[in-house]
Amino acid sequence: MIALQPDFCDIKMPEVHQYGVEDYASSKARWCSGCGAHTILHSVQKLCEEEQLAPEKTVFVSGIGCSSRFPHYMKTYGFHGLHGRAFPVASGVKFRRPDLNVFVITGDGDCCSIGAGHWVHAIRYNMKMVVLLFDNSIYGLTKKQTSPTSPIGTVSNTHPRGSILPPINPIQATLGLPNVSFVAQTVDWKPAHLQATIKKAYEHPGLSFVRIVQRCPVFMRDTYEPTVKDPDAITVLHHDEGIVLEEDALKKFRHVESHDPSDIVKAREVAELVKETTPIGLFYQNKEASRYDEYGAHNLGISVEDRIEAINSLMDRYAV
Ligand code: SF4
Repeated sequence: MIALQPDFCDIKMPEVHQYGVEDYASSKARWCSGCGAHTILHSVQKLCEEEQLAPEKTVFVSGIGCSSRFPHYMKTYGFHGLHGRAFPVASGVKFRRPDLNVFVITGDGDCCSIGAGHWVHAIRYNMKMVVLLFDNSIYGLTKKQTSPTSPIGTVSNTHPRGSILPPINPIQATLGLPNVSFVAQTVDWKPAHLQATIKKAYEHPGLSFVRIVQRCPVFMRDTYEPTVKDPDAITVLHHDEGIVLEEDALKKFRHVESHDPSDIVKAREVAELVKETTPIGLFYQNKEASRYDEYGAHNLGISVEDRIEAINSLMDRYAV
């Protein structure tokens, strides 16, 4: 690794490729062999390397679940928190430290069940962060209970005769929220598309919500194996403003559909296609949506000196 000089003067430093992928890798990932989370981890480390994200300026916040072990495997700051609480922690980090790169790693149970209230408001607050929903449609860490995204009929420890409720569609739900600004979907077994989606999400100025359909070969093999093997199971949403793939990568998909990501009404229609085929790509993007972290960055119009004085006077109330 090459040491950089601090940029405290007017001398422009040449652009230096300072970090390699290995600089973001921490301990060996302990997910099961064949778990889709491994591919996602690799893609995120690659993004960090491509964007040369300073590890000391990058934070991964997670809740609870298989996916939420993610911060342990990154050599950056991390917060492995409480079940369903990744969003409020990440929002707090971003609100007070808008200079940090914030990522939220969550799962279908963590986000769409116990954390659903926080999910809704995080989308509305639209602070700049990348949210990666690892959706394997099951509670894996606790050994196979029905999750909010489990398909009807999923046999699990909570529903030994098969689940009976229709699942939540996280894309549809997110597209229905006020101030939503970026919604995309990809799958872990198409690495070029996964990588391009994560990059596009990182470049978005507000909160980017990415649902990653993630294989759990231990508990959901029968659900994902046919989809992985069937070339008709996926439709790629294609547009110059969307997830742009190299021509060779695009040719590998049998179904490609044009979709303008500025059209939220069409995006909601496309989200419903999930019943027949899984659409992947950028459903919707609005770079102009209001951002609460920008509001916070102005510190509500209060100067640093005024804030220090306010904190001191508050502390004085408790002086003994
Ligand atoms: Fe991955 Fe499933 Fe194993 Fe969890 S239980 S680590 S989701 S394969």
